[in-house]
Amino acid sequence: MNPNPLILVVEDDPPVRNLITTTLELHNYPFRTAGSGRAALDEVLSHNPSIILLDLGLPDADGVDIIRKIRTWSHMPILVISARTQDEKKIEALDAGADDYLTNPFSVNELLARLRVTQRRLALLQAMPESSEFTNGDLRIDYAAGCAYLAGAEVHLTPLEYKLLCLLARNIGKVLTHHYIIREVWGYGGESNLATLRVFMATLRKKIEPSADSPRYFQTHIGVGYRMLRTE
Ligand code: CA
Repeated sequence: MNPNPLILVVEDDPPVRNLITTTLELHNYPFRTAGSGRAALDEVLSHNPSIILLDLGLPDADGVDIIRKIRTWSHMPILVISARTQDEKKIEALDAGADDYLTNPFSVNELLARLRVTQRRLALLQAMPESSEFTNGDLRIDYAAGCAYLAGAEVHLTPLEYKLLCLLARNIGKVLTHHYIIREVWGYGGESNLATLRVFMATLRKKIEPSADSPRYFQTHIGVGYRMLRTE
């Protein structure tokens, strides 16, 4: 069995893609390729690669949006490929959860060095389970579609409500502190605070909890934070 991880190469530029795939082939890395954002997400879901090499300039999608999407359900290492003129984009990609970057043009040696670093990171992550779907009682989250459902009916959530729900779902059973939630959902240095979080939790509850008096999904830990409960 090949000990090397499966790599998904997302690149629409044939010469760059060929350089990468030739290098991977030569060094015995199994790989899949995608030339668009849509194809990349399909590949991630159908083949569950271990590492993604992601070009930020794709014909149908912004690479940063793809990172954000994947990060709602997976910690898989993402190495972005950006042009020298795309410094801001690169920072945006790292902020969105990319692990590392390669600046194009890059050498074969740089690519291999980055892959070795990423493989070491991967070894640390491998204990974490990954899934593209989450279910808990009547609640279901389809991470790839970015939608939540309650007993089969779509729950209409704002992007921040959805992000908050995903964070609680990913950490089901674990109490998350106010501070942690605010940092994860709104980021550092935002205008958000505890009062904002309370408003969002109240809205989320209104949309998801079947009864306001006996919470089934969300538990409040006064002065500490919130937890999603496993209902079955
Ligand atoms: Ca491109």
